[in-house]
Amino acid sequence: MARSRASLTVPAPLLAEMTEPVGRLAPSPTGLLHLGHARTFLLAYWHIRARAGRLLLRMEDLDGPRAQARFADAALGDLEWLGLDWDGPSFLQSSELPRLNAAVSKLVASGRAFPCVCSRSDIRGAQSAPHASSLEPRYPGTCRGHFRSFAEAERASGRAAGARLLVPEGPTTIADGVSGESSWDVAGTVGDFLIAKRDKAPAYQLAVVVDDAAQGVTEVLRGDDLLPSTARQWHVQNALGLPHPAWFHVPLVSDEHGRRLAKREADLSLAELRAGGTDPRAIVAWAARSAALSVPERISVREVTPHFDLARLPREPCKLTRETLLALRTAR
Ligand code: GLU
Repeated sequence: MARSRASLTVPAPLLAEMTEPVGRLAPSPTGLLHLGHARTFLLAYWHIRARAGRLLLRMEDLDGPRAQARFADAALGDLEWLGLDWDGPSFLQSSELPRLNAAVSKLVASGRAFPCVCSRSDIRGAQSAPHASSLEPRYPGTCRGHFRSFAEAERASGRAAGARLLVPEGPTTIADGVSGESSWDVAGTVGDFLIAKRDKAPAYQLAVVVDDAAQGVTEVLRGDDLLPSTARQWHVQNALGLPHPAWFHVPLVSDEHGRRLAKREADLSLAELRAGGTDPRAIVAWAARSAALSVPERISVREVTPHFDLARLPREPCKLTRETLLALRTAR
């Protein structure tokens, strides 16, 4: 009796913990981080820390042979060098594979997802006309309703099976704290998408959702290149009965020709700036100025925090000119 009464009372400190915002930095260790990553991670940091929230670091290392330990080490070193900090140890996504596999199995068992033995080329071949708005062909539904389990799919086809989410018809509205509301028709454009690949590795769209929920993440601030993925993640959350976090998709950094920075352009990597002797506080100042803050040319991450206001962030891509890059390279 006493026990059940005690369980009804939530101690005040715990309640505070339940309501504080929890954000995360989620780099993929598939290359060196560049100034674009630095800016997005700084914005994510300031947005959470300005409201005394918690910030987690999750290394998203599920991407087959592209994810490498040396890039994970470099990313952690770069983020610390910039002056970022996070709560608790960094979390390696591959360390909790059973949790991700269990979510896939649950979705297949409940009929919200289905085993699929199609290869990429099968799907491209089945495409009558490429979909104009997407580089990815729409899944034509080949394996939908055919197999109840991986074992059945593999026995019947003699091929390895992945899993796809059964996407309900109709548009989805995503409310975003930066870009506003947008409507996405996942069924009509992408179709049933992969939640586990044919080698059984959990796909990004599933892993990000399951780990955000397991880690208690309430807010996701990331680059707006991931906005189209958000609608897919919304469907995964619904299928698993998980809450939707608040989303904030920020414009990316582009070069002066308007092209977004890419990991392959090693000359923009934080590792190179660091090795070349750049003062990281100059990068912090550049990112703070790009978020409409008046700050001196050198400033620490924490000094910026109390002044940060995401509402002031410009809505267009942040252009990194040659002059700015040169100034950052030579900032001592
Ligand atoms: N790991 C992903 C990336 O670096 C970001 C995932 C996310 O923020 O949801 O592109």
